[in-house]
Amino acid sequence: MRAVRLAASGELAMTEIDQPTPGDGELLVKVDACGLCGTDRHIVDGEYPSAAPVTLGHEFGGEVVRADGASSIAVGARVTVDPNITCGVCEQCRAGRVSFCPDLTALGVQRDGGLAEYVAVPEQQAYELPPEVPATHAAFCEPLACCLRGLDLAGIEPGGSVAVLGGGVIGQLMVQLARLAGATTVVLSTRQRARRELAERLGATATIDPTANDPIAAIEGPAGLAPGGVDVVLECAGVAETFRQSLAMTRRGGTVVVFGVAPQAALVEVSPFEIFARELRIQGSYLNPLTHGRAAAMVASGVLELDALVSKELSLAEVPATLSVPPGQGDVKYLVRPAS
Ligand SMILES: [Zn+2]
Ligand SMILES: [Zn+2]
Repeated sequence: MRAVRLAASGELAMTEIDQPTPGDGELLVKVDACGLCGTDRHIVDGEYPSAAPVTLGHEFGGEVVRADGASSIAVGARVTVDPNITCGVCEQCRAGRVSFCPDLTALGVQRDGGLAEYVAVPEQQAYELPPEVPATHAAFCEPLACCLRGLDLAGIEPGGSVAVLGGGVIGQLMVQLARLAGATTVVLSTRQRARRELAERLGATATIDPTANDPIAAIEGPAGLAPGGVDVVLECAGVAETFRQSLAMTRRGGTVVVFGVAPQAALVEVSPFEIFARELRIQGSYLNPLTHGRAAAMVASGVLELDALVSKELSLAEVPATLSVPPGQGDVKYLVRPAS
């Protein structure tokens, strides 16, 4: 079968390998769709630890084509896969903090993932989707599950105000989730015009071009969209500048959710007095602990607009070249269809 394999840092290629043989308690899944994301680029560049040689792809779903006799998921079922496998017995796992499991391994990072025609998946990582859900939507469950973690920690209240910084797929999902959570002011700030227009279609009540206007003044200034600041900022860009903006545009007593993945070495100067006197809550959000089932339920319900987030569908053969250059202007999500 065909698979996109990382041989070593910087060495990504589509190669022909044997179809995996599922072990005890594992399913063989024929991959319908697998999303590409920024993490894949970091893995290829060696900026994110992986266990090469390995097949990449951690945002995927497909059809179960083999299951062992004891499986509760039948052959023919459509599933979405939580790629993060935890041990279940360590202190963190037993306390429900599974994303901090020291033995966490991920499909598509440390073991073979979904950028292939077939993938072997531990059954407990699979969540069934109804057959009528479009095959491409299964690939959104993983990023959505991460967003749900961030949303759980954000504490958005109905009638509240939210700023989303960053207009990639995470920002576009967050805009929709913030509206569903009842926020009545949802402002998205991003440089790319196509992404601002998309966010407005998906429910943003306003958007800001940070290259044309100071986003801090545009939000918390006296004539801004939320004078005094927003209740919650969802930082989804992962750069020092947007983190700085987040602190300044949050109202007193408000919350900043640090969701975007900043470079590990990035540093930002902050004022402890500001955090103290304005009672800011600065909250990290890491991975998708125990949220994949809810993400699958949301995707199955059809409540989210996902088709508009797909910028391009690719074959496996197109992946190495696609990941070797930055995403195209205005593009949000690339989906790989291994059967194509
Ligand atoms: Zn990802
Ligand atoms: Zn553990």
